[in-house]
Amino acid sequence: MKNLKFGNLNIVYTERTDGNQKIEKNRELVLKTFGFKKVHIPNQKHTNKVSFYKNEDIESDGLYTTYPNTPIGVLTADCMPIALFDRNTLSVVHAGWKGLFSGIIQNSLKNLDIKQTKAFILPSIKQCCYQVDQPFIEKLNIPNKYLRKDKNGIYLNLQKVAKDIILRYGIKYVYHIPLCTKCCDKLYSYRKGDFAERILTFAWFE
Ligand SMILES: [Zn+2]
Repeated sequence: MKNLKFGNLNIVYTERTDGNQKIEKNRELVLKTFGFKKVHIPNQKHTNKVSFYKNEDIESDGLYTTYPNTPIGVLTADCMPIALFDRNTLSVVHAGWKGLFSGIIQNSLKNLDIKQTKAFILPSIKQCCYQVDQPFIEKLNIPNKYLRKDKNGIYLNLQKVAKDIILRYGIKYVYHIPLCTKCCDKLYSYRKGDFAERILTFAWFE
């Protein structure tokens, strides 16, 4: 696992050696490292909904909390985990293409003070590996600036789409970890064949 610290904000993402984070026992071991017993994870369904952290049972793909030392997180294996923090409220969302193009970042930001918000895009599949097809591009009406075409196909830059949504709010701080889940051997990736395994990315503030 890797622990990133940004002032009083902590962000952790797990690696292959931490095991499949869908399994509660594996999660407990990770949490124990940081002195926690529980991480709140939404009932992820590729929606654009964001819930208060206690409402884990409601189908949503992001949570927010106003409480310190209250870890919230998401499970992913190529989709983007994104943390948004304004010093008082923390939100963590699971943004795959469905959530991204249906407004999950915008919905998360409704709970935050935009002027104080910093954004963090965590390990996910990058343009080097995220191949898409023409019908997909047309269905979502994706502008060319997010696409790279070569003889093998068309590749989408999800992180750039996310970053542009965030920047449009006037948020100046967007941290983006330079890691592709498919390229990095240490990380689970659905497109690499890890269909059942998940990375846990979680955050809390002190
Ligand atoms: Zn890659």
